Amino acid sequence: MENAFRFKKKFGQNFLTDANLLDAIVRDAGVEPDTTVLEIGAGAGALTRALAKTAKRVVAYEIDPDLKPVLAQTLSGSENVEVVFRDFMREDLPRLEGELGQYRVVANLPYYITTPLLMKFVEEAESCLGFCVMVQEEVAERFCAQAGSPAYGAVSAAIARRGTCRMVRKVPRTMFTPRPNVDSAVVRADFGEQFPVASVQAYRETVRAAFASRRKTLENNLMQTFRLSRTQAREALSAAGVPEGVRGETLSPKQLGTLSDVLVSQRILK
Ligand code: SAM
Repeated sequence: MENAFRFKKKFGQNFLTDANLLDAIVRDAGVEPDTTVLEIGAGAGALTRALAKTAKRVVAYEIDPDLKPVLAQTLSGSENVEVVFRDFMREDLPRLEGELGQYRVVANLPYYITTPLLMKFVEEAESCLGFCVMVQEEVAERFCAQAGSPAYGAVSAAIARRGTCRMVRKVPRTMFTPRPNVDSAVVRADFGEQFPVASVQAYRETVRAAFASRRKTLENNLMQTFRLSRTQAREALSAAGVPEGVRGETLSPKQLGTLSDVLVSQRILK
């Protein structure tokens, strides 16, 4: 890498260099010769280059313009790569999707925006086939957690509505430069509706309410979040087939979907 480049902690710059690991991530992601890949955070371009060896097209975003000369060097000869020097969080996803067609997200994500960034795809993406991303191990556990487990939360339930999610590889901190303070893991999600809901917005609000306070029962969380009387909350739970006194984190994503449909049918949510 160019001597002039200094790693910026504020952008979550922990780069990968091991060629075997990079090729393994490309395989983990299910990238094929006809795949369009959207990469977020090209860094010095090591993963971008590995992706470009197999994919049809790679569109890689990078927020840090100081990486321009580094990327130009790493990606010289990778004709199927376009690097966009922009903050991905400000990107208009529908516009980008119109340009990409069907695509997969593959990235070693900057840790400081991991969850909001992936939620953008989970909630808004139309032509995304799924993601395969490196995240902190603890975050990976949350993404893939099953109902009732300690790591299960609003993010697990949001992802589970959208697709299947599994941790495919653990990656020790020693594989990154500079070395972070935590270990990481690669998580793969394949999109494809798992269960239909009447309103995605209502599902999102129901999930948020269910996990609003883990110490409270679901009934109390519903009352507080949606300003319901106890009778209204009990009626909704009963219509959804949820026993009294349970906590939100014991409900599977599908049960949360049924509850959100009930709240829509009772005109509590839209
Ligand atoms: N892909 C490279 C690799 O695996 O070695 C770099 C990964 S590094 C963990 C994350 C990269 O994302 C950094 O290069 C950082 O500058 C970039 N980044 C951070 N925030 C970003 C944003 N909002 N939009 C685009 N890129 C961003």
